[in-house]
Amino acid sequence: MEDCLFCKIIKGEIPSTKVYEDESVYAFKDINPLAPVHILVVPKEHIGSAAEITAENSAVVSKIFEAAAKIAKDQGIAGDGFRIVTNCGENGCQSVHHLHFHILGGRKLGVEMG
Ligand code: AMP
Ligand code: ZN
Repeated sequence: MEDCLFCKIIKGEIPSTKVYEDESVYAFKDINPLAPVHILVVPKEHIGSAAEITAENSAVVSKIFEAAAKIAKDQGIAGDGFRIVTNCGENGCQSVHHLHFHILGGRKLGVEMG
């Protein structure tokens, strides 16, 4: 996807602070952190959102969650707990249309989900 911000970050065309990478997953610090630890985990393959996950592309989602568990340990937030969120579409307030999972932690988070 030529015009996709996160595809450009994955290709190194836009700088990011990488925290994890493997053959199918890339993770980097959110530019506007909402918690002491705020990391985005994305598939290297362009998938527009959670609404575009199918039987053909869903294997990467388990890879993302494996990576998230490693990242949480590396960042020192696995023990105290953290949150994984993906915003989808307009009502979900998704602003970048490349599937991404926010890892938020490092403080007690609010209880509201909506
Ligand atoms: P969402 O609103 O769920 O689509 O999340 C998009 C996230 O991408 C927001 O938390 C932004 O702060 C973050 N973001 C936007 N541009 C960049 C960037 N260049 N580097 C890192 N994070 C970014
Ligand atoms: Zn993309």
